[in-house]
Amino acid sequence: MNPSVSLTFYGGVSEIGGNKILLEESGTKVLLDFGRRMGEAGKYYEEFIQIRSKSALFDLLKLGILPKINGLYSRSFLDYTSLANDGTDLTKLPLDEAEDYWRNTSIEPYSKKDSDIDGVFISHAHFDHIQDVSFIDKEIDIYSTETTKVLSKAITDVSNSGVEYQFYEVKDKLKLVNKTESYKTVFPNELEFKEVLENSDKKCSITCPKSGYVFTKDVVSSIRNYKTKSTGKIGNLSYKIVPVGHSVPGAASILLTTSDNKRILYTGDIRFHGKDEPSMEEYLAGVGKEPIDIMICEGTRVDSDKKLTEEDVFQNIKKKIQEVTGLVFIDFGWKDTTRFETIAQAALEAGRIFLINPKIAYLLYELHRMDGSKYKNPIDMRNVKVYKKRQEGCLYSKNDYAKFKAGYLDNWGRNKAKEDKNLVRIAEKKGIGREASEIVEDLSAEENLAWNLATSHIDNGVTAYEVRKNPEKYVLMFSFWDANELFDISTQEGKIQNSFYIRASCEPFSDEMEIDERKLMNWLEKFGIDYDPSIDEKGNKHFISAHVSGHASGRELIELIETIMPKKLFPIHTEKPEKFKELLKGSGIEIIEPVAGVSYSL
Ligand SMILES: [Zn+2]
Ligand SMILES: [Zn+2]
Repeated sequence: MNPSVSLTFYGGVSEIGGNKILLEESGTKVLLDFGRRMGEAGKYYEEFIQIRSKSALFDLLKLGILPKINGLYSRSFLDYTSLANDGTDLTKLPLDEAEDYWRNTSIEPYSKKDSDIDGVFISHAHFDHIQDVSFIDKEIDIYSTETTKVLSKAITDVSNSGVEYQFYEVKDKLKLVNKTESYKTVFPNELEFKEVLENSDKKCSITCPKSGYVFTKDVVSSIRNYKTKSTGKIGNLSYKIVPVGHSVPGAASILLTTSDNKRILYTGDIRFHGKDEPSMEEYLAGVGKEPIDIMICEGTRVDSDKKLTEEDVFQNIKKKIQEVTGLVFIDFGWKDTTRFETIAQAALEAGRIFLINPKIAYLLYELHRMDGSKYKNPIDMRNVKVYKKRQEGCLYSKNDYAKFKAGYLDNWGRNKAKEDKNLVRIAEKKGIGREASEIVEDLSAEENLAWNLATSHIDNGVTAYEVRKNPEKYVLMFSFWDANELFDISTQEGKIQNSFYIRASCEPFSDEMEIDERKLMNWLEKFGIDYDPSIDEKGNKHFISAHVSGHASGRELIELIETIMPKKLFPIHTEKPEKFKELLKGSGIEIIEPVAGVSYSL
């Protein structure tokens, strides 16, 4: 008897991103991506009405943004009472009257049962493919490329500590406890959530890559189990992770083979026009010659045939930089390291220094630690420096800077400097915070190197003052969120003469992004910064972008599909799934436009 194989699509259906595909084969269950459905979430949430972190899963399930899947989510998100400590008095919750307030009884949490989810594949580290992994039980293995793992760590390290960034590190320290009395307490012994250092006797350590110096940290969280081998088996399914080009490094397709040799190809997000990325031939070689039965194909740009390459973007940006006599502002996505390299090279050839933010500097550094032959160390790049913002008190005081904004040593994320006893000890040895009369101890070579890494941006960063003095020397990484910098870079009259803003990121694709685009134009115009506008049919102004998309064009997708010739094709990650039928008419391929939540037997 043939094994039963089925596919269910919980996201990415007639929408761009939010892919969540469940593949089942005789008891083996895997998910292909578990990304945030940005468009759907954006229908309800915005800046001042955000997801409630203590109730996130309850709320997102009610909105239908997350699917009801048994044996997947962590119990701590489905059952408040599971967070109780020994001795917590749960009778304080009105459990009899309203149990369903405290427990979601409609879904079974993950509990290591045979029927539970066996693994989750992540094609790449964009939020519309990875973010909702945050709610998945940490015992479930994540399968991805090594680069995606490193990226997910780096993104967690520089993000705020909300529950939505737990796709790498999972915080175990939140516990339900009885409130102890303090001078602020009105109702002692009532329940509250508290951070509890459960395993404070356990230590984790990291080794400084340059010096070998070991930093230690108390364990208050766990790291998800990422498996990064390119081939393997999960239950009855064999898999292969096939590298693809995309606007983030480490992207991959997932190829699965069932026990009766059905081959299923999930493309993830895919392009063939990037730099140093697999060509279509190389990609097809990775997929292999054996026939593909089912292809799940992205179609973000299925209706577009614009054919630009990253090289075109490079020429475009370089020309612009050379034309401008003042400061050049450049806007691009910080995870797009290909675009970073393009701009760095263009700036170099135009004789300018490229100023980046600490977030991308940290990301580049982590990629370099992973593979020094492929990714250059940002510290060693001649014409790339970190732009040092005025933070907090606006005094350029060293204490104004969060750890990753001070240098490269943020390997344990958002923990306060105080917790990292080693760095504080080095600071003490250097005499920082001591009376002048006290003895300053010599640092070992390792300690010196570690200190230099940790304070790299503080010591070597370029300030607004320097940019204002010599604007023609720099290309500044800049987005709407950096608008406050314009106050510091401009003259006392609030102008930045002969300056130009280059948009090197995608066009806005939501109402909110269009509003932000308009606001950014207001800022630029106020400060006398020039840019290339276009006018749409409604008379609205937009930026002209120096950009190529992370997605293959319609023509490339059709060429790819007709070469692979799958028996069945499921178009996803597109607002125009019907376009595939039109373009593949007469090809003999059965095209199935998936319906959300429906299971398809294969
Ligand atoms: Zn996507
Ligand atoms: Zn993507």
